[in-house]
Amino acid sequence: MEEKAGKPISRRKFLFWGAVATTGVLVGCAGSDGKDGRNGKDAVLFSVDWDEETDVVVIGAGGAGLVAAIEAKSKGAGVIVLEKSDNLGGNTAFSGGVVQASGTKYQQQFGISGDTPEKHYQYWLEAGEGVADAELVRTMAYNSAGDLDWLVGMGLTITKIYAIDPIPYIDPELIPARLHVADGLGGGYFSVLKEQAQKSQVDIRIESPVTQLIADADKRVVGVCVGDGEDALYIKARRAVVVAAGGFDCNDELAKAYSPQLYKDLENQLSLACTGNTGDVLKMGLAIGAAPAGFGGTIAYPAMRIGRNEADLPIPGIWVNKYGQRFVNEAAHYGYVARAVFDQEEHIAWAVFDENVRQMGGSVIGGWSDDLAAEIASGKILTADTPEALADAMGVNAGQLALTLQKWNADIADEDADTLYQKAVALQALDTPPYYATSVYFYNVGSVGGLKINSKAQVIGNDGEPIMGLYAAGMAAGGFIGPYYPGSGTAVTATIVFGRLAGRNAAAETAVADGD
Ligand SMILES: Cc1cc2nc3c(=O)[nH]c(=O)nc-3n(C[C@H](O)[C@H](O)[C@H](O)COP(=O)(O)OP(=O)(O)OC[C@H]3O[C@@H](n4cnc5c(N)ncnc54)[C@H](O)[C@@H]3O)c2cc1C
Repeated sequence: MEEKAGKPISRRKFLFWGAVATTGVLVGCAGSDGKDGRNGKDAVLFSVDWDEETDVVVIGAGGAGLVAAIEAKSKGAGVIVLEKSDNLGGNTAFSGGVVQASGTKYQQQFGISGDTPEKHYQYWLEAGEGVADAELVRTMAYNSAGDLDWLVGMGLTITKIYAIDPIPYIDPELIPARLHVADGLGGGYFSVLKEQAQKSQVDIRIESPVTQLIADADKRVVGVCVGDGEDALYIKARRAVVVAAGGFDCNDELAKAYSPQLYKDLENQLSLACTGNTGDVLKMGLAIGAAPAGFGGTIAYPAMRIGRNEADLPIPGIWVNKYGQRFVNEAAHYGYVARAVFDQEEHIAWAVFDENVRQMGGSVIGGWSDDLAAEIASGKILTADTPEALADAMGVNAGQLALTLQKWNADIADEDADTLYQKAVALQALDTPPYYATSVYFYNVGSVGGLKINSKAQVIGNDGEPIMGLYAAGMAAGGFIGPYYPGSGTAVTATIVFGRLAGRNAAAETAVADGD
């Protein structure tokens, strides 16, 4: 372990896990280099003179960050929120403003009965396919209604409540309408938080990127470094640091390591997530020994580049893989379907339809021109007079595509049903030439997986114990989502529930002794 000089009037040495300065003198905060300092071999002892101090430092001024800050402030703590970009809101402000909550008074007002936190918990658990942490999803489900009331108390208005589309193996009883839509969508939702933070006089600083978490010799996180070089600022957190810096939505390197589907979406330049979320604080957390959790999936919904712009639009056609076979109920929940598409060989999927669908036009297929001439001319839509010729143009097995269409058309004629995947909407024959095909892509709206937390929102270390003084909330944390995204509102609910828990518990931490 190497000892470095920090600022001149320092009184205490701090462990600087995982980031070794390459020069002899440490002149500012070093960005995390992602090295694994868990064995202590990369740890550096250095001395720091704090420039400022407060009770709770919150990293990130998106949804989870402001929720945590408002909650901590309401418990009497001093709070500083540090935001890397030049504006507030993160992905939360761009979102659809959908919150999942169960057993709410708003469901009753909208005439929806029979939902309970237990059903919600069971749903998230089943959709989590053995990967989602039961303790975390239980915490989310059971806190969701009360936390939504808390937001409504600040001025949030719910304009609509709807249900996710079916998931083949999940009992529909478990997924009643519980997706609460905020007035003004994500922008409206976030403005409620922003106004409340202003009213509560939370100290929020933009253009303040956190570049290092600082832990003391007992491995308690005691502060952060903001910026780099001569302008670096050391802020002491007397009680705790809350990581609310979002996911690694736009970081190719982390996507490649942790989320193949996100990586593919970034490669295809099909991400709608904001560019500020690059997982830097995730790397800092891992470098001080935090355990990773919940990686693998991503938040994505299938789309056709030519403008299927409604995630819940019934799809008047069938989807086939590179072998010309159907592989999923195309109208199932988008997260489930997105995974199914990604699981196909080379991630190839085509939507196939006929002239009758084309004649339904742009009113059914959002964003498409009525005659499709422009899309055909640009090559975004392929067309042919027979299924076999269409298959040749698509590069899929011609005999199999013809058989797939025959089976679909026979099902509709004989049973008026999809006997293969039980799709219950858009049951119409696809037998009128010309035939059309277009590629199915994804839009990505964020990463999944982050720092492992417990139901108090404490960050858990690789030894299974909480890292003292460190909390995480929102998409910076991981473990509450399984291999596919279980529906709009899951992410925002995680920002609210774990944001509140993090803020409350951080404010209640015993303060680091004066002089430390
Ligand atoms: C178009 C779109 C629609 C969506 N719709 C929904 C929806 O309706 N419902 C739903 O549940 N989910 C939705 N999602 C996903 C959801 O919005 C996000 O997952 C969630 O809001 C993330 O909240 P967060 O607080 O964790 O992160 P964010 O709100 O993204 O905030 C993170 C903040 O941390 C800052 N930051 C990052 N690194 C640092 C650093 N080193 N120092 C300081 N600050 C840092 C970022 O700049 C950012 O402001 C949507 C996403 C998109 C893109």
